[in-house]
Amino acid sequence: MNSIQRVLIVGGVHGNEFTGIYVVKKLENHPYLIQRDNFETLTFLANPKAFAAVRRYIDQDLNRSFKKSDLQDLTRSSYEDIRAREINNLFGANGKTPVDVILDLHSSTANMGLTLMTDDRSFNLQLVTYLQSLNPSINIYLSRKSEEYFGLPSICELGCTIEVGAVPQGVLQADFFRKTEALVINALNYFEQYNRGEIPSFDKSLTVYRHIGTIDYPRNESGELQAMIHPQLQFQDYQPLAPGEPIFLTFDGETITYQGESTVYPVFINEAAYYEKGIAMCLTQKEIIHNFY
Ligand SMILES: [Zn+2]
Repeated sequence: MNSIQRVLIVGGVHGNEFTGIYVVKKLENHPYLIQRDNFETLTFLANPKAFAAVRRYIDQDLNRSFKKSDLQDLTRSSYEDIRAREINNLFGANGKTPVDVILDLHSSTANMGLTLMTDDRSFNLQLVTYLQSLNPSINIYLSRKSEEYFGLPSICELGCTIEVGAVPQGVLQADFFRKTEALVINALNYFEQYNRGEIPSFDKSLTVYRHIGTIDYPRNESGELQAMIHPQLQFQDYQPLAPGEPIFLTFDGETITYQGESTVYPVFINEAAYYEKGIAMCLTQKEIIHNFY
């Protein structure tokens, strides 16, 4: 990519994730914070109806509604299907105001700290490396491949999702608000330097957590939960989990252990929004990557 023309800051893809929504509202009220000389910054609240209802979504998860074939299927008529088409028609490659980079703001009930989710395109790795250099507590989560993932950011190749937590759904916490805002501002500063050809180059490797799969809760035939996240694992996102270590606790107090073959690093542990998706946690492997400049 030669230069960045337009950046989109999007909040409220999930209506009950208040951090990103209120950051976007603040930036809309203080536009000078996001104005830069060499590109245009747009802001957008993705699911206003779900926000008004303080729900993740109205009919279906907007962040799973951007499959190409679904976007082209005009018979799909749920609120989020229609909204996804509108968003794609605004900001997608063939849209009215196509964007080059998306910063997508979310929060989680899991102990994600400050997480940047992206993929291993070099632009994206360089962006998160820069942001981590300013705040070493940031975790880099390389999430699922685009063929299996139909979130809003999939309409654009570049950028990252900011995921902060643990924060309950429908709740604003000032610390995460401020950290999210700082990440957005720092990212915009980075794009400004990028367009000037003044990218700071970091002669270092990057530690990442790469998505390798998910684990569901133990359930009976009718899908009812048979166990809970083990108290030893609760809030232990990004910590090593070795085979044989506790992951679930049954209602009778019996411990269920991790049966994998090697140590993994779970994230999104006990995320409230994932019960319905059949996900008790996502598993990652810790990797150090080099040579992405
Ligand atoms: Zn979300």
